[in-house]
Amino acid sequence: MPDAAGLIRAKRDGGELTADDIGALIGAYTGGKVAEEQMSAMLMAIYFRGLSPAELRAWTAAMIASGERLDLSAVGRPTVDKHSTGGVGDKVSLILAPLVACFGAAVPQLSGRGLGHTGGTLDKLEAIPGWRALLPPAEMISVLRREGCVICAAGPGLAPADRRLYALRDVTGTVESIPLIASSIMSKKIAEGTAALVLDVKVGSGAFMRELAAARELARTMVALGAESGVATTALLTAMDTPLGRAAGNAVEVEEAVATLRGEGPPDLTAVTVALGAEMLRLAGLPGDEAALTAALSDGTALARYRAMIAAQGGDPDAALKQAAHTRTVAADRDGWLQRLDAYAVGVAAWRLGAGRARKEDPVSASAGVICRVKPGEPVQAGQAVLELRADDEGRFGPALAALDGMITIGPEPPPEAPLILERITAGAAL
Ligand code: URA
Repeated sequence: MPDAAGLIRAKRDGGELTADDIGALIGAYTGGKVAEEQMSAMLMAIYFRGLSPAELRAWTAAMIASGERLDLSAVGRPTVDKHSTGGVGDKVSLILAPLVACFGAAVPQLSGRGLGHTGGTLDKLEAIPGWRALLPPAEMISVLRREGCVICAAGPGLAPADRRLYALRDVTGTVESIPLIASSIMSKKIAEGTAALVLDVKVGSGAFMRELAAARELARTMVALGAESGVATTALLTAMDTPLGRAAGNAVEVEEAVATLRGEGPPDLTAVTVALGAEMLRLAGLPGDEAALTAALSDGTALARYRAMIAAQGGDPDAALKQAAHTRTVAADRDGWLQRLDAYAVGVAAWRLGAGRARKEDPVSASAGVICRVKPGEPVQAGQAVLELRADDEGRFGPALAALDGMITIGPEPPPEAPLILERITAGAAL
């Protein structure tokens, strides 16, 4: 048994824990032999003191060792995954997994549900009648072999220590710690068994990391962890000051993803998807560049793969998606150019409309959400709808509108063009 109180004191006072200490602590915690209050104190000590590179490696390894590590060797193609740190309107995974699969990769997208203002990939896909997020590992591997892509829930056996630690962090004010975020994300991705990984680290008002410097540090930390574990990892830092695409919600994002898979997507969403796709193909050692990826969107190849993936998981790709009973618009109060449409505000509005959940066990509405009729950089006239809000229940509009108050700026001239892809972080630069 580890001396939990002694380890907490050592960390609190700036000492460095050994890999054995960390392995024993996490093993004992997962086995129910370290009390929640002791782990809470340790997390707070880490929040203030950080983890050295060696401690971070050991912490991540212990989280991986708390469960199973999937073996994807039976898939027979290069495996490559993408993880986004989360943003508003971020439906990239729905497009990217089938798109990259068209080029010979196998994309094992183990995804999560939304909590708070950012949506979850599984909640979005569950808007499709019949679609199943929960697949036993053998079925997941069989869909991956057949279709080259699968999007499903991570099983309970994957990094179970993270599941408990994340819940504890959520209620102890210790989520916002770069080493804890990095080890949480990377333990799950490494345990998933992918050979390569592209990280989409979002930066801006709608992201976990609002500042470029913090996002860069998180990206470098995760890229180094991946490289040390033998997972070829790179990161793109991408803008999240305004929603990606025009839709934020569940069914509305599925519809926008399908439009993008037909080559008719919004330019920002298409550009981020194609940039991440090119990075994934490069890491997987497969031929294909941005032009080829764009062509696979417009010629129907990627859409056909998406439809096969959805059908393989019980979904009906032709089914009409549920439409909201009520809509409300937010109109421009003057003529001009939309200069700012705050991503966080739109995310909170979509969440309050019913698209997201406040607690893990809450249900979400398939049809609630926000459509951005105008995006920053576009002209607008007084009275024109800037946003369309959708909800199942009219009582939800008031709180959603409150979140948007003051978060839309219209000015006399267009805003300066904002880059979408801010930086690329590779293993060499991360070390
Ligand atoms: N996502 C995770 O999986 N873990 C974190 O700590 C933060 C975001």
